[in-house]
Amino acid sequence: VNCSFFYKIGACRHVTTSEVEQQQFFDDFFEEVFVEAEEKYGEIEEMNVCDNLGDHLVGNVYVQVPLTPVTDFREACCRQYEMGECTRGGFCNFMHLKPISRDLRRRLYNRSRRKHNAGSGVGSRRSRSRSREKWEREQREKRRRRDRDRH
Ligand SMILES: [Zn+2]
Repeated sequence: VNCSFFYKIGACRHVTTSEVEQQQFFDDFFEEVFVEAEEKYGEIEEMNVCDNLGDHLVGNVYVQVPLTPVTDFREACCRQYEMGECTRGGFCNFMHLKPISRDLRRRLYNRSRRKHNAGSGVGSRRSRSRSREKWEREQREKRRRRDRDRH
């Protein structure tokens, strides 16, 4: 999508780091691209980063917005890789999608989904329901007082 993405991912691959550090780096990168793409294209259904297909394609980012047909994309993915069985590595003709950590996945996809629901964070929802309870109680009080006045 963008040369700077390629640079970042490409640079990462040639530095010797622990797997944890690499995952962290990748998560940061993924989040950055995800947020950027979301601003550009709107809500993102799914985003994938391809981890093979030779150096010229390393770091390709596939952003799937709701318009993109899912089936085409699934067809291009390496099924063996998903099962952890692909031995072809960079020579495989199918896409190897680099996984992001579960925490990040939850964070990103929940965040974009949250826009659809009226509520936002857990904290604000809790305080809203608390003030709503108060409001309902006040309404009940008023109604009771009004009923009493009438009789
Ligand atoms: Zn493969």
